[in-house]
Amino acid sequence: MPQNADHVLDHFDLFRQPEYREMLANKKKNFENPVAEAEVQRVVEWTKTPEYREKNFAREALTVNPAKACQPLGAVFAAVGFEGTIPFVHGSQGCVAYYRSHFSRHFKEPSSCVSSSMTEDAAVFGGLNNMIDGLANTYNLYKPKMIAVSTTCMAEVIGDDLNAFIKTAKDKGSLPMSYDVPFAHTPAFVGSHITGYDNALKGVHEHFWGGKAGTVEKLQRVPNETINFIGGFDPYTVGNLREIRRIFDMMGFEYTIIADNSDVWDTPTDGTFRMFDGGTTIDEMVAAVNSKATVSMQEYCTEKTMKYIEEEWKHETVAFNHPIGVKATDDFLLEISRLTGKAVPEQIKLERGRLVDAMADSSSHIHGKKFAIYGDPDLCIGLAQFLMENGGEPTHILATNGSPKWAEKVQAMLDANPFGKNCHVYPLRDLWHMRSLLFTEPVDFLIGNTYGKYLERDTGTPLIRIGFPIFDRHHHHRYPVWGYQGGLNVLVWILDKIFEEIDKNTIVPAHSDFSYDIIR
Ligand code: SF4
Repeated sequence: MPQNADHVLDHFDLFRQPEYREMLANKKKNFENPVAEAEVQRVVEWTKTPEYREKNFAREALTVNPAKACQPLGAVFAAVGFEGTIPFVHGSQGCVAYYRSHFSRHFKEPSSCVSSSMTEDAAVFGGLNNMIDGLANTYNLYKPKMIAVSTTCMAEVIGDDLNAFIKTAKDKGSLPMSYDVPFAHTPAFVGSHITGYDNALKGVHEHFWGGKAGTVEKLQRVPNETINFIGGFDPYTVGNLREIRRIFDMMGFEYTIIADNSDVWDTPTDGTFRMFDGGTTIDEMVAAVNSKATVSMQEYCTEKTMKYIEEEWKHETVAFNHPIGVKATDDFLLEISRLTGKAVPEQIKLERGRLVDAMADSSSHIHGKKFAIYGDPDLCIGLAQFLMENGGEPTHILATNGSPKWAEKVQAMLDANPFGKNCHVYPLRDLWHMRSLLFTEPVDFLIGNTYGKYLERDTGTPLIRIGFPIFDRHHHHRYPVWGYQGGLNVLVWILDKIFEEIDKNTIVPAHSDFSYDIIR
């Protein structure tokens, strides 16, 4: 075999060696019952046609490559934003391995999360014993300050009652009676990771503000001038939350970032393993009830949480849609200024001017280009707004977890802008629908997560990686996309891809390289 200790080949080269090629060809011939190559090609070509697109969009009972994850993944994202908190998912090991690996691959950090390890017997008889043992083990092994519980689809199908289970586990001595265990039911077969984020965050609010599942008196609100800030399920949470802190500190007012996971997913390598790092403290969470207002950067990630805050605690609530760019950041800062009574500092105004300058330098390259966007509902809105601000033309906007109501809002935004007039919005659709769109109504660029690389290869549409998850590029999550500085980052990511494509299209000597320029 070609692999040996003196000359180790990585997998790129190893599986291209004749031995492996022969083995794979034999496997295909003898065991895969392959269809004739010509027939495969005929069907492939047919799937690129308007006729196939019509059938593809008529499908109801099947989802192919959804641009979303399940609810508990979002619940884990919210839970790690609290100091010393370990997410506990009531369900199987396999589900939790998926959440841990998903976050570890995106943030390039270990992501701690435990499960109640439900197996066949728990699926039949219920998972109470798993909860009793699991909470005791988690508390004793990892010594967290708080355990935030959510559920997988298996636990939800059985109908396990988290409130009763946690009470029983405490009665049986798994945890001290006063120990904080906020919980949320996060049925994975409805909604998506943003629903799970919302449910989990509401669960934490209810726990602290609503009398800890009825075990203590409800908190009494003593209003103050503090502002609460919620980032939502955000692929750029590390860079974004730090940028928000920088801006708020410059403005000079009291604030609490709720579910701040910016440190736990960016721990330094200095010889110390940190299972927990940073996060919103329990004291901050208790005090948050007194705040003047709660600001959410992502309306569709926090619908239930914001409603709860508004109705129960009479806070003013303000929600944005992942603001990116000049106008969206203007609106955000003006609203913060109104709420706090603090002026926007000169330094931030300078940053605004610099972003406008950068856009003026470069927008001729974006102007008139057509873009397809997919991802979470709020991020799609933020990106589409920024593209139009640069003269780009969003053409397809698709969110598997976007509702028809979301689509109406986005369509109204597009209709009000000349650059959005040819754009259509696709709620509840998946990446196989996007494939049909890209073949039948091609665009210049595709914006979305790493899974778009298969669409890039298949349809030839260059992919600009923005969203969650980004597995195959490193460290983008450390850069903000919010604020004027963040807008600059997004502008550069878009432009880099445009210039790469221009270079690719002009690279052939004596054919197209008269435009293979040093200066772009
Ligand atoms: S969809 Fe259900 S089985 Fe799959 S990872 Fe989510 S909770 Fe687990």
